[in-house]
Amino acid sequence: MNETSFRSGFIALLGRPNVGKSTLLNRILGQKIAITSSKPQTTRNRILGVHHFPGGQALFLDTPGLHRGQGALNRFMVNQAVAACQGVDLVVMLTDVDGDLLSKDEYSLDLLKKSGCPAVLAINKIDRTSPQKLLPVMQDYARQFPFQDIVPVSALTGDGVDNLLEVVCGKLPHGPRYYPDDVITDLPERFIVAEMVREQLLEQTGQEIPYGVAVAVERFEERTDRDLIMIDAVIYLERESHKRIVIGKGGAKIKEIGRAARLQIENLLGCQVFLDLFVKVRKNWTRSEHRLREFGYH
Ligand code: GDP
Ligand code: MG
Repeated sequence: MNETSFRSGFIALLGRPNVGKSTLLNRILGQKIAITSSKPQTTRNRILGVHHFPGGQALFLDTPGLHRGQGALNRFMVNQAVAACQGVDLVVMLTDVDGDLLSKDEYSLDLLKKSGCPAVLAINKIDRTSPQKLLPVMQDYARQFPFQDIVPVSALTGDGVDNLLEVVCGKLPHGPRYYPDDVITDLPERFIVAEMVREQLLEQTGQEIPYGVAVAVERFEERTDRDLIMIDAVIYLERESHKRIVIGKGGAKIKEIGRAARLQIENLLGCQVFLDLFVKVRKNWTRSEHRLREFGYH
C-alpha cells in the first residue's frame, strides 16, 4: 500500500448512556476491550479502538455517555465525553430505538452543534424494531442536524455495522499509520483486566453497588515457565454494607464474580489466568478528587 494514499482519522462515539456505544466498539474490533452492561454509566474513561481496513485505519473513541449528574466522578465522565469530541475528524452519534428519542438526545445534539464537527448518525438496536418505524425516526433526526449519513445498525447482532464502517471509513482524510496492524487499542492490559472485574460486579450485583465501585490491578505477573498469568485485583467499595453484598454468603458471590471475570480475561490474554480478588472499603470515594486520581480517573 502506498503510504501517501493511506487514510486515517479519529472518530468519537457519542450518545446517551446505554445506547450501545461500547457494544458497537467491541463489534467493530471483533474483540472485547470495552465493558458493557445494562446499567447506565458503565464506561468511565475514554477508550481507543483501532479498526484496520485495506488502505487505512479508523481510530474510534468510546466515551462515557453524556448525562447530567452531580459529584466528582460524574463530572469526570462527562468531561471525558466532551473532550473526545474536540479535534476529531468525525463524530458518530449513537441513538437507540427506545421511547421518545429526540428529547432524550437534546444534550448530545447540543454538543454536536457546538463542536462544529461533521457527524454520522447510527440508530442502534434495530433488532428490536420494524423497518416501518425507522423511517420517521430518521426523518426526525435529519431535521435536527445536518447529518452526513444516517445508518440503522444492531451492535448486538452486527446487522448494518459493515455499512456504517464503509460510510465512516470513506470519510476519513489522508493521514498517517498511527498504529501497527496488529494493535487494536492503546489501553494497557491491566486496565482492561480491571474493567472486566468491574463488569462482573455490575452484572452480578444490584443497583446500589455499581456506581460506587472501582477496581485496581495490583499484581500482573507473567510466569514464563508456564503459560500462566497471576493477577491480584482489589475491589474498592464505598460502604461496609456493600462489602457484605459483594462477598456474599460464605464467599459465594465473590467466587462467582472471580470465576466469570477470569474466563473473560483468559479469552483476552489467550492463556491461563490465576485471579485473586480482594475487597476494601474507601468511604465516599466517588466524591473525592483525591481518590479519583488514586483509582486512575484523571
Ligand atoms: P453504552 O453505555 O452506550 O456504552 O452502552 P452498552 O454498550 O454498555 O450497552 C447497553 C446495553 O444495551 C447492554 O445491555 C447491551 O447489551 C445492549 N445493547 C447494545 N447494543 C444493542 C443492540 O444492538 N440490540 C440490543 N437489543 N441491545 C443492545
Ligand atoms: Mg459504554
